[in-house]
Amino acid sequence: MKHIDEFVDERQQAWCIHCGGWIAELDTNRDHVPTKTLLHKPFPENLPVVKVCKDCNEGFSLDEQYLVAFLGSVLSGTTDPSAQSNPAASRILRTNESLRARIEQSKTTYRTISGETRHVWKPEQMRIDRVLLKNARGHAFFENGEPMLSEPDIVWSRPLETLTAEGRDAFEDPGDSGFWPEVGSRMMTRIMTGHDLSGGWVIVQEGVYRYSVTQDPGIRVRMVLSEYLAAEVCWD
Ligand SMILES: [Zn+2]
Repeated sequence: MKHIDEFVDERQQAWCIHCGGWIAELDTNRDHVPTKTLLHKPFPENLPVVKVCKDCNEGFSLDEQYLVAFLGSVLSGTTDPSAQSNPAASRILRTNESLRARIEQSKTTYRTISGETRHVWKPEQMRIDRVLLKNARGHAFFENGEPMLSEPDIVWSRPLETLTAEGRDAFEDPGDSGFWPEVGSRMMTRIMTGHDLSGGWVIVQEGVYRYSVTQDPGIRVRMVLSEYLAAEVCWD
Protein backbone atom coordinates (compact mmCIF):
# COMPACT_ATOMS: atom_id res chain seq x y z
CA MET A 1 0.00 0.00 0.00
CA LYS A 2 1.09 3.60 -0.47
CA HIS A 3 2.32 5.42 2.61
CA ILE A 4 0.10 8.41 3.36
CA ASP A 5 1.04 11.03 5.93
CA GLU A 6 -1.80 12.62 7.81
CA PHE A 7 -2.10 16.04 9.31
CA VAL A 8 -5.08 15.61 11.59
CA ASP A 9 -5.08 17.50 14.90
CA GLU A 10 -2.81 15.71 17.39
CA ARG A 11 -5.37 16.18 20.16
CA GLN A 12 -7.47 13.53 18.37
CA GLN A 13 -4.68 11.05 19.04
CA ALA A 14 -4.74 11.36 22.82
CA TRP A 15 -6.96 8.33 23.52
CA CYS A 16 -6.81 4.60 22.97
CA ILE A 17 -9.53 4.22 20.32
CA HIS A 18 -10.84 1.06 22.01
CA CYS A 19 -11.07 1.83 25.74
CA GLY A 20 -10.80 5.62 25.67
CA GLY A 21 -7.77 5.46 28.00
CA TRP A 22 -5.38 8.42 28.04
CA ILE A 23 -2.64 7.08 25.80
CA ALA A 24 0.21 9.09 27.34
CA GLU A 25 -0.32 7.23 30.63
CA LEU A 26 -0.57 3.71 29.20
CA ASP A 27 1.75 1.09 27.75
CA THR A 28 1.04 1.18 24.04
CA ASN A 29 1.42 -1.04 21.01
CA ARG A 30 1.29 -0.26 17.34
CA ASP A 31 -1.64 -2.27 16.09
CA HIS A 32 -2.14 -3.22 12.44
CA VAL A 33 -5.56 -2.60 10.91
CA PRO A 34 -6.69 -4.92 9.56
CA THR A 35 -5.38 -7.54 11.92
CA LYS A 36 -2.38 -9.14 10.20
CA THR A 37 -3.64 -12.71 10.61
CA LEU A 38 -6.57 -11.80 8.33
CA LEU A 39 -4.05 -11.17 5.53
CA HIS A 40 -1.80 -13.52 3.60
CA LYS A 41 1.99 -13.48 3.36
CA PRO A 42 3.80 -11.66 1.89
CA PHE A 43 2.04 -8.84 3.73
CA PRO A 44 1.49 -5.59 1.81
CA GLU A 45 3.91 -2.77 2.57
CA ASN A 46 2.86 0.21 4.69
CA LEU A 47 -0.06 -1.51 6.36
CA PRO A 48 -2.22 0.93 8.33
CA VAL A 49 -1.10 1.12 11.95
CA VAL A 50 -2.72 2.81 14.94
CA LYS A 51 -1.34 3.32 18.44
CA VAL A 52 -3.54 1.59 21.03
CA CYS A 53 -3.07 0.55 24.64
CA LYS A 54 -1.35 -2.77 25.20
CA ASP A 55 -4.23 -4.26 27.19
CA CYS A 56 -6.67 -3.64 24.35
CA ASN A 57 -4.21 -4.86 21.76
CA GLU A 58 -3.75 -8.15 23.60
CA GLY A 59 -7.40 -8.37 24.67
CA PHE A 60 -8.61 -9.01 21.12
CA SER A 61 -6.22 -11.83 20.45
CA LEU A 62 -8.48 -14.81 21.28
CA ASP A 63 -11.40 -13.45 19.28
CA GLU A 64 -9.09 -12.73 16.36
CA GLN A 65 -7.81 -16.29 16.45
CA TYR A 66 -11.38 -17.53 16.48
CA LEU A 67 -12.38 -15.43 13.47
CA VAL A 68 -9.34 -16.46 11.43
CA ALA A 69 -9.84 -20.15 12.24
CA PHE A 70 -13.62 -20.04 11.73
CA LEU A 71 -13.40 -18.18 8.42
CA GLY A 72 -10.66 -20.53 7.23
CA SER A 73 -12.78 -23.56 8.14
CA VAL A 74 -15.85 -22.22 6.35
CA LEU A 75 -13.88 -21.31 3.22
CA SER A 76 -12.12 -24.67 3.02
CA GLY A 77 -15.16 -26.66 4.19
CA THR A 78 -13.20 -28.34 6.98
CA THR A 79 -11.34 -27.68 10.23
CA ASP A 80 -8.46 -29.82 8.94
CA PRO A 81 -5.34 -27.65 9.38
CA SER A 82 -3.67 -29.11 6.29
CA ALA A 83 -6.59 -28.07 4.06
CA GLN A 84 -6.42 -24.35 4.90
CA SER A 85 -5.42 -21.79 2.29
CA ASN A 86 -4.62 -19.19 4.98
CA PRO A 87 -1.46 -20.37 6.81
CA ALA A 88 -2.56 -18.43 9.90
CA ALA A 89 -5.81 -20.45 10.06
CA SER A 90 -3.81 -23.63 9.58
CA ARG A 91 -1.44 -22.75 12.43
CA ILE A 92 -4.26 -21.83 14.83
CA LEU A 93 -6.28 -24.98 14.07
CA ARG A 94 -3.17 -27.13 14.45
CA THR A 95 -2.04 -25.69 17.76
CA ASN A 96 -5.38 -24.95 19.43
CA GLU A 97 -7.26 -28.24 19.62
CA SER A 98 -10.07 -26.99 21.84
CA LEU A 99 -10.81 -24.17 19.43
CA ARG A 100 -10.75 -26.59 16.53
CA ALA A 101 -13.18 -28.89 18.37
CA ARG A 102 -15.44 -25.94 19.16
CA ILE A 103 -15.55 -24.87 15.52
CA GLU A 104 -16.08 -28.46 14.41
CA GLN A 105 -19.12 -28.63 16.71
CA SER A 106 -20.60 -25.56 15.05
CA LYS A 107 -20.72 -27.40 11.73
CA THR A 108 -23.84 -29.17 10.53
CA THR A 109 -23.57 -31.56 7.61
CA TYR A 110 -26.52 -32.40 5.40
CA ARG A 111 -27.24 -34.01 2.06
CA THR A 112 -28.93 -32.21 -0.79
CA ILE A 113 -31.70 -33.88 -2.81
CA SER A 114 -29.13 -34.66 -5.49
CA GLY A 115 -26.99 -36.44 -2.90
CA GLU A 116 -24.29 -33.79 -2.45
CA THR A 117 -22.79 -33.31 1.00
CA ARG A 118 -23.01 -29.74 2.27
CA HIS A 119 -21.98 -27.99 5.47
CA VAL A 120 -23.46 -25.05 7.30
CA TRP A 121 -21.56 -23.30 10.05
CA LYS A 122 -22.91 -21.36 13.00
CA PRO A 123 -20.64 -18.45 13.90
CA GLU A 124 -20.10 -17.18 17.44
CA GLN A 125 -21.40 -13.82 16.35
CA MET A 126 -20.34 -11.81 19.40
CA ARG A 127 -16.72 -12.81 18.95
CA ILE A 128 -16.81 -11.94 15.26
CA ASP A 129 -18.50 -8.61 16.03
CA ARG A 130 -15.78 -7.68 18.52
CA VAL A 131 -13.08 -8.17 15.89
CA LEU A 132 -15.08 -6.32 13.23
CA LEU A 133 -15.66 -3.41 15.61
CA LYS A 134 -11.98 -3.33 16.49
CA ASN A 135 -11.02 -3.14 12.83
CA ALA A 136 -13.77 -0.60 12.06
CA ARG A 137 -12.51 1.70 14.82
CA GLY A 138 -9.02 1.34 13.41
CA HIS A 139 -10.11 2.08 9.83
CA ALA A 140 -12.20 5.11 10.88
CA PHE A 141 -9.33 6.50 12.92
CA PHE A 142 -6.67 5.83 10.31
CA GLU A 143 -8.68 7.30 7.45
CA ASN A 144 -10.57 10.13 9.12
CA GLY A 145 -8.50 10.82 12.22
CA GLU A 146 -11.66 10.36 14.25
CA PRO A 147 -11.62 8.23 17.43
CA MET A 148 -15.01 6.44 17.50
CA LEU A 149 -15.16 5.89 21.24
CA SER A 150 -18.91 5.39 21.57
CA GLU A 151 -20.69 2.10 20.95
CA PRO A 152 -21.70 1.76 17.30
CA ASP A 153 -25.37 1.86 16.29
CA ILE A 154 -25.07 -1.04 13.86
CA VAL A 155 -22.74 -4.01 13.53
CA TRP A 156 -23.56 -6.77 11.08
CA SER A 157 -21.80 -9.36 8.97
CA ARG A 158 -22.91 -12.11 6.62
CA PRO A 159 -21.60 -13.92 3.54
CA LEU A 160 -21.65 -11.68 0.46
CA GLU A 161 -23.55 -14.32 -1.48
CA THR A 162 -26.47 -14.21 0.97
CA LEU A 163 -27.16 -10.54 0.18
CA THR A 164 -30.00 -9.83 -2.24
CA ALA A 165 -29.02 -8.33 -5.60
CA GLU A 166 -30.13 -4.87 -4.42
CA GLY A 167 -28.47 -5.35 -1.06
CA ARG A 168 -25.24 -6.33 -2.76
CA ASP A 169 -25.34 -3.31 -5.09
CA ALA A 170 -25.96 -0.96 -2.18
CA PHE A 171 -23.22 -2.57 -0.13
CA GLU A 172 -20.65 -2.51 -2.93
CA ASP A 173 -21.21 1.18 -3.62
CA PRO A 174 -19.92 3.28 -0.74
CA GLY A 175 -21.44 6.15 -2.73
CA ASP A 176 -20.91 9.84 -2.56
CA SER A 177 -22.49 11.05 0.65
CA GLY A 178 -21.95 14.67 -0.34
CA PHE A 179 -19.74 15.10 2.72
CA TRP A 180 -16.04 15.67 2.16
CA PRO A 181 -13.51 14.21 4.57
CA GLU A 182 -11.45 16.62 6.63
CA VAL A 183 -8.55 18.29 4.82
CA GLY A 184 -5.34 16.50 5.79
CA SER A 185 -7.05 13.20 6.59
CA ARG A 186 -5.81 10.14 4.77
CA MET A 187 -9.21 9.57 3.16
CA MET A 188 -9.08 13.06 1.64
CA THR A 189 -5.59 12.29 0.30
CA ARG A 190 -6.87 9.00 -1.15
CA ILE A 191 -9.75 10.73 -2.89
CA MET A 192 -7.36 13.27 -4.40
CA THR A 193 -4.63 10.80 -5.40
CA GLY A 194 -6.54 7.51 -5.85
CA HIS A 195 -3.97 5.75 -3.60
CA ASP A 196 -5.13 2.12 -3.11
CA LEU A 197 -8.69 3.15 -3.97
CA SER A 198 -11.01 1.22 -6.27
CA GLY A 199 -14.69 2.15 -6.54
CA GLY A 200 -14.54 3.85 -3.14
CA TRP A 201 -12.88 0.83 -1.48
CA VAL A 202 -9.39 0.77 0.01
CA ILE A 203 -7.78 -2.41 -1.29
CA VAL A 204 -5.45 -3.74 1.39
CA GLN A 205 -4.79 -7.05 -0.35
CA GLU A 206 -6.58 -8.03 -3.55
CA GLY A 207 -9.13 -10.79 -2.90
CA VAL A 208 -8.22 -10.90 0.80
CA TYR A 209 -9.25 -7.66 2.49
CA ARG A 210 -10.83 -4.35 1.49
CA TYR A 211 -12.65 -1.63 3.39
CA SER A 212 -14.43 1.67 2.91
CA VAL A 213 -14.99 4.54 5.30
CA THR A 214 -17.71 7.09 4.51
CA GLN A 215 -19.19 9.99 6.42
CA ASP A 216 -22.83 10.96 5.99
CA PRO A 217 -22.46 12.69 8.55
CA GLY A 218 -22.15 9.60 10.80
CA ILE A 219 -19.30 7.19 10.14
CA ARG A 220 -19.92 4.01 8.16
CA VAL A 221 -17.19 1.40 7.81
CA ARG A 222 -17.59 -1.54 5.46
CA MET A 223 -15.23 -4.48 5.23
CA VAL A 224 -14.96 -7.53 2.98
CA LEU A 225 -12.90 -10.50 4.14
CA SER A 226 -11.64 -13.04 1.59
CA GLU A 227 -14.34 -11.81 -0.84
CA TYR A 228 -16.67 -13.94 1.29
CA LEU A 229 -17.70 -12.10 4.43
CA ALA A 230 -19.36 -8.69 4.15
CA ALA A 231 -19.46 -6.54 7.26
CA GLU A 232 -20.61 -3.09 8.26
CA VAL A 233 -20.21 -0.99 11.39
CA CYS A 234 -22.04 2.37 11.67
CA TRP A 235 -22.14 5.26 14.09
CA ASP A 236 -25.10 7.57 13.37
ZN1 LIG B 1 -7.23 0.57 25.30
